[in-house]
Amino acid sequence: MKTTPDAPDRNNYPRSAAEPRPDNRPCYIDPCCPSCGAPLVLLDLLKSPETPEDEIWYDEFICPQCRDGIHLDWPESEFKKVFEAEE
Ligand SMILES: [Zn+2]
Repeated sequence: MKTTPDAPDRNNYPRSAAEPRPDNRPCYIDPCCPSCGAPLVLLDLLKSPETPEDEIWYDEFICPQCRDGIHLDWPESEFKKVFEAEE
């Protein structure tokens, strides 16, 4: 899974699936579809734009063009590394 090498400030990164990402874009994975390059969107909002905020899973992204599966914005190993290094 690809991560952003020059990420701005990891302290501000969401720590759970229920936390909104800035601009509803993935924080940990490539924000664009690896197949077609389209910006990934939140699965819940693609299914239903009216989804209440507290019912959205903010780590589930999907390509609106390919719709070929869920891209999870949740690299657990990377998380561990970051927070262990800070403690
Ligand atoms: Zn795509």
